[in-house]
Amino acid sequence: MINMAQPQIGQEEIDAVVAVMKSGMIASGTIVTDFESAFSDYIGAPFAVASSNGTTALHAALLGLGISEGDKVLTTPFTFIASSNSILFNRATPVFIDIDKDTFLLDLDRLEEYLENANDSSIKAILVVHLFGLACDMPRLMKIAEKYNLQVIEDCAQSHGAEINGVKAGSFGDAACFSFYPTKNMTTSEGGISLFKDQAKADLARKYVNHGRVDQYKHDVLGYNYRMTNICAAIGLEQLKKLPVMNAQRISNAQVYNELLAANAYIKTPVLPSTFKHVYHQYTVVVEDIARDEVQLLLKENNIGSAVVYPYSMTEQEFYQDKSINVGDEISREISRKVLSLPVHPGLNQSDIEAVCRVLNSIGLSK
Ligand SMILES: *Cc1c(COP(=O)(O)O)cnc(C)c1O
Repeated sequence: MINMAQPQIGQEEIDAVVAVMKSGMIASGTIVTDFESAFSDYIGAPFAVASSNGTTALHAALLGLGISEGDKVLTTPFTFIASSNSILFNRATPVFIDIDKDTFLLDLDRLEEYLENANDSSIKAILVVHLFGLACDMPRLMKIAEKYNLQVIEDCAQSHGAEINGVKAGSFGDAACFSFYPTKNMTTSEGGISLFKDQAKADLARKYVNHGRVDQYKHDVLGYNYRMTNICAAIGLEQLKKLPVMNAQRISNAQVYNELLAANAYIKTPVLPSTFKHVYHQYTVVVEDIARDEVQLLLKENNIGSAVVYPYSMTEQEFYQDKSINVGDEISREISRKVLSLPVHPGLNQSDIEAVCRVLNSIGLSK
């Protein structure tokens, strides 16, 4: 079976966890602090707050940035629900701007057009998602944000190590949030981290992550328990060392797909803008002129996993209807009906990818 995901856990992670267990310091402690500095150094952002998962990292980041009731946050409708839920957690309003049909990312032309006409002082931030491992054009987005005086949150849950002109995703925005769920480019089992440019905002986020605590039993805001444990951080320190190699294997697997599927009339392979380093959290193709279900079934019959990521635009979620503003979702809906993600994880090698491509390239031959 060629699966969609397979966390790369080796003896290093196992030994690191055992060492923490033997130390007795199994909740949050110095290993978490070590992981925070190692990860923020790697990305190139000065301040880091680790947390229990990517969703709590996003919630804490928005709290640190002061996003609150009545505020509007511009974001993409084509992502995992946690991205825009983090806006709702703070009783702010997600404003969905449609995506680009080739990159699947927030369309910056539409974003700019909306801001030009909106003239709305309640718009406070842009939450951009670097979907599937490809970063959005952050130099351009930061210019737009500066012009309209907006804060920027990067959702990097799928883009650990992605780059634009050699600069890492997660080092551009006022805050950047990563998830370390087992299917992501690196894992801590469950885990997350928020990075910040500004120390005061990082300190505020850290307070929210730890019960709003200013002293052991003194609390000055309604906080949460979103802390990461030393056990998770120990896994993360080992995974971070392996991240460049794991990403290189994802990239090499993607290159095999790109070459072998280039002539396939039913499959459009992902675009890679020049000067961008895509880290292929997902290798996502657009299926055309044939039912996507049929392709998935054919793969399944050949013991190959695949996944529809994501089958709906966020604008189609029922409970969002009265809580969000939909500026445009035509492309997001269209793409959600056509995308198919193929196995690309670092546990796979060239011959696995060739096997997937043989099946995909047999489509239409029997007709
Ligand atoms: C995984 C993911 C999250 C949430 O991370 P969890 O660790 O699962 O809470 C947020 N945003 C995006 C884009 C994700 O892929």
